[in-house]
Amino acid sequence: MNTPRKFAEETVLLHAGRHPEDNYGIVNPPVYHTSTVLFRSVEELLETRVDRASGAFEKFTYGREGTPTTRALEDAVTALEGGYRAVVTSCGLGAIAASLTAFLNAGDHLLIVDSVYGPARHFCEDFLSRFGVEVTFFDPLIGGEIAGLFRGNTKVVYMESPCSLTFEMVDVPAVVAACRPRGIVTIIDNTWASPLCFKPLALGVDVSLHAATKYISGHSDLMLGIAVCREDAFIPVKKTASASGYCGGPDDVYMALRGLRTLALRMKRHQESATRIARWLQQRPEVARVMYPALPDDPGHAIWKRDFKGASGLFGVVLKECSAAQLAAMLDHMDLFKLGYSWGGFESLAVPTYPATLRSASPWTEPGPALRLHAGLEDPEDLIRDLEAGFARLGDAA
Ligand SMILES: *Cc1c(COP(=O)(O)O)cnc(C)c1O
Repeated sequence: MNTPRKFAEETVLLHAGRHPEDNYGIVNPPVYHTSTVLFRSVEELLETRVDRASGAFEKFTYGREGTPTTRALEDAVTALEGGYRAVVTSCGLGAIAASLTAFLNAGDHLLIVDSVYGPARHFCEDFLSRFGVEVTFFDPLIGGEIAGLFRGNTKVVYMESPCSLTFEMVDVPAVVAACRPRGIVTIIDNTWASPLCFKPLALGVDVSLHAATKYISGHSDLMLGIAVCREDAFIPVKKTASASGYCGGPDDVYMALRGLRTLALRMKRHQESATRIARWLQQRPEVARVMYPALPDDPGHAIWKRDFKGASGLFGVVLKECSAAQLAAMLDHMDLFKLGYSWGGFESLAVPTYPATLRSASPWTEPGPALRLHAGLEDPEDLIRDLEAGFARLGDAA
């Protein structure tokens, strides 16, 4: 059961998915380590088969299908995003793969946003195409004109907003309005916003998925994904995740639940620090452009303001042209913005990005190098001083 929605969201965040009264009064849900679930009788075993075949998945039958620990995380995130039920997967890419393969068959056509998360692009190009799915990438700024790309066999439209690396905002309501009358399933990667800052299901999207690896867990210590579904989408996604073996481990699920409880506090701080740092970067002579839709002069700001309730700590920067040695002099010696993939943890991170290598429908023409920065929970003034020292090294290496 989800917590009733009469409470403020920050209150729901703390209570959703917890049932101390069913567990000796213990505040947090127990961690069930299991493969086997024992049945009391053949009759009970057969009931679980009926439950599974009908797509209800209310009963616990086997570790891979989920446990009460998994269910607690699924219920908690569902309470925040709305929707019917959620499916926990082994990682964010598992949630992407399960959601796509739930709806696509050989001969179907998939439309996917051009500046999508790189491994999602590769999954479509390298795997789905091998299984007979036609894949077309679309310009993130396409809006309602996506209808012009529909074919008779278009089955799924896959979005991410803001997009990975380049942070364009997709006009989700316009895309959904084009898809729904034709029965085209819409899926969105909502990892950037976390379940707090954007509610795609309320806008009619069928599946909103997250790399729970990022903000939901928040501590850079686990891999997990979750797909939150409208009612019609739940059975296909659950069946596919379960039939493909995308299950999450019990300790990881428990730690994600623990991380989730502080999400509202963390997201506020990530947004405040990212905004402060992004504004500071805009004034720097080394910077050509900052890509962060929460900034008023960002091209995606109007859509962000209309549809989102907040922003995260992840944004992009395009530097003015400089040499590879200058960029390395900056990034190799940062004290706080360490070089590494992933984001959404408590710590700040930086990576050089190469957007031109990851798009085909909307060319990337910026001449200077691009970076992706994650503003962690450190003191923002310390983070700015770290970048300032980095720019000094970049200048000295000229
Ligand atoms: C990291 C990431 C994923 C994949 O999540 P994993 O847990 O690393 O598999 C998916 N989407 C976005 C936007 C991401 O940044």
